[in-house]
Order: sequence, then structure tokens, then C-alpha cells
Amino acid sequence: MVDAILNVCKGTCPNCNSGSIFKQKGLFYKMRMPKMYEHCTVCNYKFEKEPGYFIGAMYVSYMLTVGQAVGVYLIFSYLFQIGNNFQIFLIIIATMIGLSFFNMRISRTIWINLFKT
Ligand SMILES: [Zn+2]
Repeated sequence: MVDAILNVCKGTCPNCNSGSIFKQKGLFYKMRMPKMYEHCTVCNYKFEKEPGYFIGAMYVSYMLTVGQAVGVYLIFSYLFQIGNNFQIFLIIIATMIGLSFFNMRISRTIWINLFKT
């Protein structure tokens, strides 16, 4: 369990705990999508088990996005005391767009670590 959490934080292979899953992390402000290795560079563990394997990672991404949206809403409505819900909605949309590449990368990493065999 601790290894899985560390692997998710570092983005490393669930099998050997050292090989990187992504060759390119992806940055929104550079419009660079994250790119994965097909196999681990250290132990040759196959990351995508079958075609469409990462469709399930969308559920993880959805969970992360909802959590972030609720967090942003709570921060801006209670901490910064913005009473206008439309302004908070726009801030949430901007946050979701800004974190989209990060969410894609972290959700795939969580998905790989959930179902390692
Ligand atoms: Zn590995």
C-alpha cells in the first residue's frame, strides 16, 4: 500500500518501483500532452494491458476533478468570501482546464497501480 502511494506520487512502475511510466509529463501552458512508455524501461512491465485499458482511468479522473472543484468552491467562497457563484464557477472551470493534463497523468498512474498484476 505504501509502495502504491509512493509510485503514484513519483509516477513510477508498480512492478519494480523505479521505472518511469511517462516519458513526457505534459504541461498545459506548453500544450504538451503527457506521453507514456508502452513498457517499463527497467523491468519491461506492460502498462496498457489491453486496448481501452485506460478508459477506466476516466472514472479516477472524474473523482479527482469533482474533489478539486469542491475544494476550489470551498476555498473561494469561504476563505476569499466571493459571494457570486458565477465568478466561482468561472474559477472552477479555469482550474479544471489548468489541471486537466495533471489529472490525466495522475489518474492513469492510480489506475495502473490499482490493477497491477
Ligand atoms: Zn518496472
